[in-house]
Formats: sequence, C-alpha cells, structure tokens
Amino acid sequence: MFRIGQDEINAVARVIESRSLFKVNDALQESRHAEEELKAKMGADYALIMTSGHAALVSALVAKGIGPGDEVIVPAYTYIATAMAVVGAGAIPVIAEINETLTLDPIDFESKITPRTKAVIPVHIQGFPCDMDSINAIAKKHNIFVLEDACQADGGSYKGKRLGTCGDAGAFSFNYFKIISTGEGGALVTSDREVFENALIYHDSSAVVFFGDQLKDVDAKPFCGNEYRTNEITSAILRVQLAKLDDILSDLRKNKKYVMDALSSLVKFSPSNDIEGDCATTLSFAFNDETTARAFAQKTEGLLPIDTGKHVYSNWTPIMEKKGAFHPAMDPFKMKENAVCDQPYGKDMCPVTLDILSRTVYISVNPDHTKNQLDELIAKIKSAL
Ligand SMILES: *Cc1c(COP(=O)(O)O)cnc(C)c1O
Repeated sequence: MFRIGQDEINAVARVIESRSLFKVNDALQESRHAEEELKAKMGADYALIMTSGHAALVSALVAKGIGPGDEVIVPAYTYIATAMAVVGAGAIPVIAEINETLTLDPIDFESKITPRTKAVIPVHIQGFPCDMDSINAIAKKHNIFVLEDACQADGGSYKGKRLGTCGDAGAFSFNYFKIISTGEGGALVTSDREVFENALIYHDSSAVVFFGDQLKDVDAKPFCGNEYRTNEITSAILRVQLAKLDDILSDLRKNKKYVMDALSSLVKFSPSNDIEGDCATTLSFAFNDETTARAFAQKTEGLLPIDTGKHVYSNWTPIMEKKGAFHPAMDPFKMKENAVCDQPYGKDMCPVTLDILSRTVYISVNPDHTKNQLDELIAKIKSAL
C-alpha cells in the first residue's frame, strides 16, 4: 500500500450513506463498476473481484477443471499462497527453479512437465515481470494453462501488455502489502469465457445462483463452490486505488531509475525480463556470494530474499510436510488420484533458487521519496559498496 487517504474515506462514506453494502443488485453498484474499470485498466476480457488473491488463484484453477490427478508447476520462490492455491484446487504443486531474474526459469519449467501437467503459475514476484514469451511458448506446445500470479505486480506489464493478461488468466491481490490496497481483496482476470463463467459460479456460489441476473447469459451449470464474494465498501476503495495505480507506478519507476542510473557503473542489478514493465517497487542487487550480500544489506538496511520466510519454498511447511487438508479424505496429498503425482519435496530440491536468493539484496523503492531522499539513499549505497 502506498497512497491512501481522503478519497478512499469519501468512497467508503458514500457506500455507508447509501446503506447498500451488498454486492448484488445494490444502489451504487460499486462492485460492478470496479470490475468494468479493472477490465478497462488491465485490458482484460473478463474480471471478477473477490476476497483475496489466493481466492482468485483457486477459482481460476477450479474453473479450468484442474483437480486431483493434475500437476501444476509453481516457482520455488513465491509466497506460499501460490502453492496452497494448487492444493486448494485438489491438485499437486510441482516446484521449479527461478533464474537470475528472480522469476520462473523457463528451462526448468519445461523440464518439470509430465503428462499430468495441466497448468503453470508464473509469479511476477516483487513486480518483476516473468519471461512470458518463453513460458507461453512452452505452455502452448504442451497444452498447459498459464495462470499468472500478479499478486505483487498490480498494473505492471510485459512488452506493453499488463501482467495478468499475458497468459490465459491472472490473479491480483489488494491486501495490505500490495501496490494498491483495499486492506484485503483480489481479482481474477481471464480471456477464457469458460473459465470466467465457472469462476463466477465457484467464487460466489450461493449468491450467484439466487440473486440478480448474474447467470442470465451464462452457459455454465451451477455447482457448489465457495464464498469469496466481495462487498461494496471494498469495491469502492478499489475504484479509487485503481485510478491512482498508474501514477504510483510511474513515480516508482522514475525513482528506481534515478537510483539505478546513479549506480549502474558500480554494482550489478538483477537482470529484468522487461525493465519498463517492472513495477519498480524493489531495487534488486545481484552479488557473487552471500557474505558480500549480507555485508551490503547490513549497511543499507537491505533485505536478502532468502530471509523472507514463507516466500522461499523450503519454508512452505504444510507443503513440504504434505499436509493438504484438515480432513484426511479431503487431502490432495493422500488422494489415490494423486498417487502418480507424488513429489520429492525437500529443503534442498531447488539449489539454484536458494543460491540466487542468498546473494541478492533488495532495497524498497518509495514513490513519494523526494530527490533529496533518493540522493541520501544513493550516497548510503555508494559508501556501502
Ligand atoms: C499476496 C500474494 C498472494 C495472495 O494474496 P492474498 O490476497 O493475500 O490472498 C498470492 N501470491 C503472491 C505471490 C502474493 O504475494
């Protein structure tokens, strides 16, 4: 979250004064407007706003018909929610290495494909765009569904297309930590009509069936899904945040570029698949070894991604221990359909990822930093180097 204030307060007040806080058939239709505005901003065909980014990921997988007996490839470096979403759909996460860009390595992705691979989830971690051309080409060859996890990359782009719309579907998050925020919240976008229709039913299964005209033009048949419905207050905040998104990104990029330009001859930055589309929330320094990286981080108040807890696969405890559900019969890791998908999870299974994360340092970018503050940061980095 970067910029939130009076505009959001006014939006919330508007909804409360209307006394119409429910998404469906309400007076102000904040949620419906928010979905239209999200589609327009992202250049997406269909959009569904829901309670979280995780909900959007699960909804997309379920809506594509992915479940027990299927494997979904995820990068070894992402928030645990990505892998949990796969388990939430009943499928098995297959963990693949990242490369120096900190995002999914297309070569390792391809090497992990089996006849059971139904989807891949490239994650635009820290707003760094994945190599979508390579990932899409491999996925197409093997008939694999591409679900972009753009939860840390609201509004970013790859070769001029917004992240989340480069594959078959994309998930955004608006939780407290993301580029734009509604406190909690998320959205699914897709170009696939069937995925949209099934996700519509799945993410709001009781209300969609009983209220309003949401199923009027929908061919998909109702089934028992989940309840990830958004609400009017959240949607009203989202509309304000969406309108601010491009200014936030533009100031982040301006500030990141200013620092990078000042340091380009002194230090190596992690390579980017598209520096112009990068969300620029993070300066990423690439060192040759962990000792140098740690010394630099200490002097600059930087952070090594290896220390970011549940973003590193080796810390995904319930996944590593194959505890996929509370009820054993609902646990994908114990289902007989998944016996053929059994994975050799272990803390050392992705050594390339662990190596890269141990010699990289992140320093956050703030869109509201002044030139003075940026110059201070540059001086601090220079002295640390
Ligand atoms: C935040 C995040 C999610 C989940 O988003 P929620 O809205 O908290 O459910 C998923 N994937 C990544 C990479 C994230 O950073």
